[in-house]
Formats: sequence, structure tokens, C-alpha cells
Amino acid sequence: MTALPELTTDLYLAGSWTRGGAGTFTTVDPSTGKELAEIAAASAADVDTAVAAATGALRGSWAAVPPSGKGALLHKLADLVERDTEILAALESYDMGGLYGLGTMMFVPNLVASLRYYAGWADKINGETLPTDGYLGRPTFAYTRREPVGVVAAIVPWNAPSMILGWKLAPALATGNTVIVKPAEDASLSILHLGRLIDEAGFPPGTVQILPGLGQVTGEALATHRGVHKVSFTGSTEVGRRILANSATDFKRTTLELGGKSPQIVFADADLDRAVSGVAMGLFTNSGQVCAAGTRVLAHRSVYDAVVDGLAAAAAAQVVGNPFDSATTMGPLVNRDQRDRVLGYVEKGVAEGARLVAGGGARADGPGFFVRPTVFAGTNDQVIAQEEIFGPVGVVIPFDNDAEAVALANDNAYGLAATLWTRDLARAHTTAAEVHAGAVAINGWSPLGPQLPWGGVKASGTGRELGYEGILANTEAKTVTVVL
Ligand code: NAD
Repeated sequence: MTALPELTTDLYLAGSWTRGGAGTFTTVDPSTGKELAEIAAASAADVDTAVAAATGALRGSWAAVPPSGKGALLHKLADLVERDTEILAALESYDMGGLYGLGTMMFVPNLVASLRYYAGWADKINGETLPTDGYLGRPTFAYTRREPVGVVAAIVPWNAPSMILGWKLAPALATGNTVIVKPAEDASLSILHLGRLIDEAGFPPGTVQILPGLGQVTGEALATHRGVHKVSFTGSTEVGRRILANSATDFKRTTLELGGKSPQIVFADADLDRAVSGVAMGLFTNSGQVCAAGTRVLAHRSVYDAVVDGLAAAAAAQVVGNPFDSATTMGPLVNRDQRDRVLGYVEKGVAEGARLVAGGGARADGPGFFVRPTVFAGTNDQVIAQEEIFGPVGVVIPFDNDAEAVALANDNAYGLAATLWTRDLARAHTTAAEVHAGAVAINGWSPLGPQLPWGGVKASGTGRELGYEGILANTEAKTVTVVL
């Protein structure tokens, strides 16, 4: 068991640590159900202060740091995050129940990778020179500048807090924006520690600020603030819709990374062992609290029984328990409501006639918000196959041919990701083109990296983060034309 690290529970506002104007809120350790910390909550007035500081840094101290200096600061921050990997991972395990091993091996290294990737971009943000037909008989010289969008609000969910913040923070800073971060109520602690590292790295005050607080208060004040130019939001489709509607008032830029109900298609020619273990990974990683979780498993009828049996065995083999124990493969769900919501879906699945082949209830012993890994054999029209559950629950659905597989994959409100399991190259690429999703993976569930653009279609959101798309999403193109 890793000891609880020192906790940072104040706001990081205009370069100082301060209590918030909206009192405090409580965060709970989901493995024990016990209170972990009281965290300062930012008020609308704190948001005003933050926006003023961010605007000042945007035009002043941060703008004055040259591009290579911005890159150097991002590298410095990456070094500090690397140094504190174990602290950041432990804070996330205590706060939201994710596996400590997943934190040290994936979540925190992914944050480091994003910081380093965009550190490299900082002095490579080019505009273009544009040939024209001239103007009133005179030649022109025309070019574009890529300018920062301005003050960016980064609103983050609880399921992979530091990793997802990295997808927003690193490209926004590399392109010269200032950032106000709103962590999720259930996972503020690692992000507040990151604030300490941002301070230590020496970013000018106001360049990055961290305002924990309630979504309806702090998040709403940020997302509707006239001084905020862009909202980069990752979270539920419901809140994303509200942010998009609010953004119409002043045409804020938005990047919305929302929910998912992603298909994993197992074709008849798949390497079945590899497919079943990969599909299981897509169901149970982070206790299924993953936007890209591959929760609709479409299996060709010739391999359907083998896939169902394989996933039932994989579910039974999961070790549910303490996230710090290296033998554990699944920790708790983030909070009591989430556990009850997931169990409600399991009951719904049984009630609508899906066949329960593994799991199906809360872990019997001990405190904490544990759910057993659950697999249903069902159909695509069932509620458990249509709605995002955000827990370790999968439904296996049969199909008879490729066209039906694609039709089933696309018969859902969401379109975040899809995984294809096949050894047939033509089938793989044809299906990848036909599936409605922001990202398709072939023979591996959800590979991630800062080079790979990420985002969804349909109810999974709009816009992309990461890769060069992340540069475009954080800059405005300004056209300058000189009539010679
Ligand atoms: P959520 O929408 O409840 O909260 C996300 C963030 O928004 C939190 O910080 C919350 O405080 C804030 N918020 C709440 N109400 C707000 C408001 N009115 N205005 C502004 N901000 C507000 O989501 P969650 O429960 O924290 O996260 C789970 C969801 O996130 C799932 O649907 C999951 O699929 C999605 N998610 C998507 C991706 C992706 O990349 N597409 C990644 C991770 C999670």
C-alpha cells in the first residue's frame, strides 16, 4: 500500500494558492467509502479573478516567453511530472480508484508524452504564404498567421484526470494560450499537485490556473464567461450539449470529447485468443470507466459462442479489489452513485431479457464501490447495448455478414471509437472506412499517443485533440494581405 501523499486542496489562482469563495466540497476514497479531503471550491468571483489573470498573462508575461522558451517550460514540466509519477498515480488511486499500476505505467507517462510532444511543436507553429490572382490589377503578398485562441477553459472528467488534462494543456500552452483548469469533483487532487509542478517549473503567474469546484458553479461560470475564448471539455454528452448551447452567446470555440458506446467487431477470421483478451481489456480497463470502452461486442455467429465463453472466463479471472495491490486488475467505481447507476443497468439488462453470462452484482464483501465484471449475451436494440454505462459491463451481439456488422456498429447515438478484430487486410480497411467513429483500431483496443488525433462524431462530440489537429484546435488563422 502506498501512503497517502501530501494533499494540495487550495485553488491555484493568479500564481498563488488560496481558499475559494464557494466554501469546500468533500472527496471520498472509493475503495473505502471514507472521506479523503475537503477541497476549496471556486466561486464565480474567483472565476472572474482567474480570467483577468489569464488575460493579463496572455497579452503580457506568457506572450513575452519566446516559442523555444515555451517549449523549454513544457519540457521542464514533463521532467517534474516524471519525477512525481508515483505521487500523481497514488493521488489518482486514492481519489478515483484507478489502479496504481495503470497510473504509473499509462496515465502519468501519457501526460509526460503529451507535454514533450507539444514542447517540440512550440517553435514550429507556421502560417502559410498564399498565391492569389492579385487585387485590382496589382500583385499581392498574402499570408496566414496562426495565433492563440486566447483564454482556454479546460474542463476535465474524473476517469483519467491527469492524462486527459495533458491533451488540453500541452497543445494550448505550446500555441501560446493561457489555460484555466476545472478538475472534476471526484478527481481534483492529482491536478492540484500538477499545479505545484507548474509553479515549480516557473510558468508566469496566470498562464495556468486550477479552479476546483462544482460543475454547476465553477464549471458553469467558466464555460459562460465572456473573457473565455475556448472551452475544451471532456465529459458527459449531457453537459457537453449545455456547453455547446451556451457557447452560441459569444461564439466561443469548443472542443467537446463526450461519451461513447464503442463497438468491437470480432470477425470469423480473427485470431480469437488475441481478440478475446483484447476485447476484455476494452471492457474492464479502469473498471470500464473509459470513454472508448468497447462495450458493444459484435461477434460473427460462427465464433459467437467462443467469444461469449472467452469473455465470461476473462470476467471471472478479473481480480477486483484494492487499486494499490499489484494483483488487482479492477478497482472500485468512482463513487456510490456511479456504482448504483451501473448496477441499475445490470438489472435493466436482465429485465429486458439479455442473458447474464458473468458477473452481475456488487462485490459481496468489504466497503467501497465495487462492481463485478459483467458480460451479457444480448441484442443491439437493448438499453444496455444503446446507452453508455461507464462501468465494467459488456454485451455480446451476433452478426452474420460484414454489412450487418457495419450496420449494427453504426446503429447507435455515439461515434467515438471502434475496434476491429480480423486478419483480412481488405476487410479491415474497408470496415474502418465504413464505421462511424472518430478513431478505429485494428487488432488492438484503443492505442493512444499524442501523435494520434482523438475525438468523436455524433453524440460523442465535436472537434479533435492531439496530433496536429490539436495545434489547429488551439489557434485561429488570421489572413494578412498586402497589396503591392
Ligand atoms: P461530467 O459531464 O459529469 O463532468 C465533466 C466535467 O464537467 C467535470 O469537471 C464537471 O464538474 C464539469 N461540469 C459539470 N456540469 C457543468 C456545467 N454545467 N458547466 C461546465 N462544466 C460542468 O462527466 P464525468 O462524469 O466527470 O465523466 C464521465 C463522462 O466523460 C462519460 O460520459 C465519458 O464517456 C466522458 N469522457 C469522454 C472522453 C472522450 O475523450 N471522449 C474521455 C473521458 C471521459
